[in-house]
Amino acid sequence: MNEAALTRPSVPDEAFLIAFNRLAVALRVQEVDPAMKGVYFSALSDLPADALAAGAEAVLREPGRRFFPTAPEWREATLRVLDAAQRAAPVMVLNQDDPRGWVTCPECQDTGYVLEQGGGPLRCDAAVRHGACACGRRGRHDPGMTYTSVCACRATNQAYQRKHHGP
Ligand SMILES: [Zn+2]
Ligand SMILES: [Zn+2]
Repeated sequence: MNEAALTRPSVPDEAFLIAFNRLAVALRVQEVDPAMKGVYFSALSDLPADALAAGAEAVLREPGRRFFPTAPEWREATLRVLDAAQRAAPVMVLNQDDPRGWVTCPECQDTGYVLEQGGGPLRCDAAVRHGACACGRRGRHDPGMTYTSVCACRATNQAYQRKHHGP
């Protein structure tokens, strides 16, 4: 593995730009240097796009927030969102077949995010399918990048649905 292969892509994807532009509009940033988007994207592109969008919303709800967040601030807000999503789900029972089980999806504990598999973080195989690798990268890169994936249960998981869309 060489250094260059480990460098994250710096061309922001559409989902990232939507969240970024939403921050810029809400915080009345007059001019955004295109290079700034690339710098932010390469600093944050290891996080899932919808978590970053939720993190951006959290930034905008911060009392007294007037300036565009730094990349670490945005990351912190995003991690808080992911963390809260995890804590919101009880992890008492991991057996999907147990009628008393509190957790309906053992993959994600009903958070909608899969963080681990087999006791360790998810790592990609660097295979690009449908335009992007499982880790979100589009360009060539070495396998073994850690990532968080959106759980496949979301559409059918009632516990997840209740938490995110009300009863
Ligand atoms: Zn799930
Ligand atoms: Zn990958």
